[in-house]
Amino acid sequence: MQPETAQNQSVAAPSLSVVVPVYRSETSLRALVERLLTVLKNRADDFEIILVNDGSPDRSWRLIEELARADTRIRGIDLMRNFGQHNAVLCGIRAARYDVIITLDADLQHPPEEIPSLLAKLAEGYDVVYGRPAEEKHSLFRRLGSNTLRYIVGHVLGITNAAQISALRAFRARLREPFLTYSSPLVFIDVMLTWSTTRITAVSVRHAERSKGKSSYSLYQLLGWCFTVITSFSTLPLRLASWIGFFFTLFGVGVLVYVIGVYLILGYSIPGFPFLASIIAIFSGAQLFALGIIGEYLSRIHFRLMDKPPFVVRDSIGFPPPNQNPLKPALESAVNRQIVHG
Ligand code: UDP
Ligand code: MG
Repeated sequence: MQPETAQNQSVAAPSLSVVVPVYRSETSLRALVERLLTVLKNRADDFEIILVNDGSPDRSWRLIEELARADTRIRGIDLMRNFGQHNAVLCGIRAARYDVIITLDADLQHPPEEIPSLLAKLAEGYDVVYGRPAEEKHSLFRRLGSNTLRYIVGHVLGITNAAQISALRAFRARLREPFLTYSSPLVFIDVMLTWSTTRITAVSVRHAERSKGKSSYSLYQLLGWCFTVITSFSTLPLRLASWIGFFFTLFGVGVLVYVIGVYLILGYSIPGFPFLASIIAIFSGAQLFALGIIGEYLSRIHFRLMDKPPFVVRDSIGFPPPNQNPLKPALESAVNRQIVHG
């Protein structure tokens, strides 16, 4: 769908904030930053690269500090521990200070050279542009996991174009306003972006092979992540539990009619234990299933009430002190609560 206001968009190059979640990426980080700088220099007058270290056990943070000292456009945030990819991206998004935010992975699987094609599409008037790999260079299991995730998340959460979701995204910074104060440990950036817009599209991009190491995600972890995302952002499982309860109530009534019918019409009663045992097992199974789902929601509410944060910042480098930063005071104050200015 082509947005109506496409022609009204400004043609001036937008200022860019690039957010990169970093986990065990010491081998690819330097090359990534060099390639990003080459691309960004030609695309924007103002830009920054925000590298968010998600509790990497390797030397990633040391390297980020080195890179940030060498170039003022590179900023680093070090999280207290490993919070997860989306949480790290959320932290970077909050700290970003320019008009358009770009997110990409640290392992060079998303070539920085593809950024201009995302920006060109954004300039047509879209609010979010994903870079969808023409051919995904992941293992079969990893692809199966992420495709299942996309399918389920798309259908359950009502995201049209869910197949386009990718960690390579460009979007307008204003979209983050509804989740500036989001305080839950469960973060899913792509759902949060749909809170503000439906002008979402994708362009086809190259997807490079992973040069070193392996994906941080197993199929099992991805399926667990699917379940968490669905129970965090949708009430469909609760409705499913109600339907199962309803179905088994009808089933129970059917069994009762059958038992009484056999007794009245055929004149004998259904022989007892095995029949009764199986019915009880079915019913208690359904009840426990429904209770389990309710429990999942209770635990989500519990965590929300605890105000468990999505991330905690240990250190940062390259951010100006709050009182010297003229940019976006409202956004800054939201960021300052989390970021210790280094
Ligand atoms: N990542 C992160 N925290 C984690 C796991 C991954 O910040 O706990 C980052 C990682 O540095 C990379 C991106 O998330 O930039 C994607 O991770 P990875 O390449 O391992 O996964 P893939 O999607 O390629 O399977
Ligand atoms: Mg990767």
